[in-house]
Amino acid sequence: MPIAPKLIIKEIQELYLSDSLPWIIGYSGGKDSTASLQLIWTAIAELPKERRRFKPIHVISTDTLVENPVIASWVELSLKQMHVAAQKFGLPIHPHRLTPSLENRFWVNLIGKGYPAPRPKFRWCTDRLKISASTKFIQELSEANGEAILVLGQRRGESHARDKVIDQYQASTRDRLSRNKDPKLSRVWVYLPIESWSSDDVWEYIIQTPNPWGISNQDLFDIYRGATPDAECPIVVDKSTPSCGDSRFGCYVCTMVTQDKSMAAMIQNDGAKGWMQPIMDFRDRYLAVDDRAMRDFRRMNGKVIVLNDRLVHGPYSQERRAELLLELLKTQKKVRIAGNARGVELAELIGLDELQEIRRLWVVDKGEIEDLLPTIYEDAIGAPYPGKELDAMPLDAADLEVLRTVAKEWVAENLSTEEGAVAAERASELYKLTRTLLATAFRGLQSRKRSKQLDQLQSLLSAFAFVDEQDALDFAKTHLSDIAPSGGSDIPDAVLDEALADTTPKTVIPILSASSVVG
Ligand code: SF4
Repeated sequence: MPIAPKLIIKEIQELYLSDSLPWIIGYSGGKDSTASLQLIWTAIAELPKERRRFKPIHVISTDTLVENPVIASWVELSLKQMHVAAQKFGLPIHPHRLTPSLENRFWVNLIGKGYPAPRPKFRWCTDRLKISASTKFIQELSEANGEAILVLGQRRGESHARDKVIDQYQASTRDRLSRNKDPKLSRVWVYLPIESWSSDDVWEYIIQTPNPWGISNQDLFDIYRGATPDAECPIVVDKSTPSCGDSRFGCYVCTMVTQDKSMAAMIQNDGAKGWMQPIMDFRDRYLAVDDRAMRDFRRMNGKVIVLNDRLVHGPYSQERRAELLLELLKTQKKVRIAGNARGVELAELIGLDELQEIRRLWVVDKGEIEDLLPTIYEDAIGAPYPGKELDAMPLDAADLEVLRTVAKEWVAENLSTEEGAVAAERASELYKLTRTLLATAFRGLQSRKRSKQLDQLQSLLSAFAFVDEQDALDFAKTHLSDIAPSGGSDIPDAVLDEALADTTPKTVIPILSASSVVG
């Protein structure tokens, strides 16, 4: 039996007044978190004025910066209206829009570092895009106040996984609150006001009760209509929260699902949303988990891993990353033109700060001194790249072209093969090795800090030690043991994680400041 709204409102008032711990409400903009917040808002507004200022209520919403633009604008508008209404009615409610830090953003990891598109065995996105920002906020607030209470819109029966989470919460001795399971959030109590409600109960409540901060719950219902039934992405605060991939409120880049049904339904049901079509086309065409051929045969740190007679491929190749960026920027341009024609002002799909970080990762961390990013930007957008200048590269475009030709000739003379693709791969490997070695050596000559240069050269020589992928595979099979029994059905998750991503920070090409250059 669902608990009636009136009883929940009474319970909220009692809980609110029972201690001085601040409240944090997870708000995704979906129906469940809207219903929870609406109940809390109503409960606090009904308290006498002197009691409602008792303690703050923080409403947190995470914007991954790769959200469906319609949903992102809806949530942003809702947060703005919340702020205005809370001030107007003297309520201690403070909305916060949280975004991932630069190094955790989707494009920085996918295009900058080359992390392959998220997949079940390598779901690197949820932690970086959703959990990190909310955990930081909750941790800081709970530590500053000793403890805090986190209010979530989770319901019983939404899914088996969610039931399990709720059962864990119910093991608590404290009646309606339970300790959060994540050790990082051990000072946090969890309260689930609508856990007894079904999806229909939620709709009945929010359609019949006007939204107290002034958004239209009917508009929210319209957003839901026609797409995936009842599969909302909850606010994710720890790893026990179920995946939000198959949901209306997920990211448009999500490869945990085969299709973005939500965006497809929005475009299909509402011609005015057709400006989002290029975003869907980009996702369908360029983001896929079937991407082995587009990834380096080495892992991020240059080492090789063999499994079932094949190398476990690592990050996206330089060529693939460049292609992804070019196509993303072209998509951004198309969407902006189509959106403007319909009076929709679209924020960018990728920000300038992200572009700058990607450029740094390519040139500094990966040693790709072709410095492709400004040219890619100009080609896609048709305007000069507006980011900061980097120091001049040690080799210019003409030098690099000579290097490419020499590498090709050397391979033709010394490592000839009848297979054109293999010859091209060998020439490319040799070119990349010499390019990065020369650049590192040039930089080293200019630097006062040469102690690490030998290590850098050593790691480059190891990473580019093979003439081609077959050579690396032969070496690995002879010298390294397979990470799983040959013929084993699956790659152990931890090993795959490790193979795809190496989080060890490293610098291949140190970009020098003027003061570190010997005059
Ligand atoms: S919606 Fe998909 S891409 Fe976004 S965080 Fe969840 S699993 Fe990752």
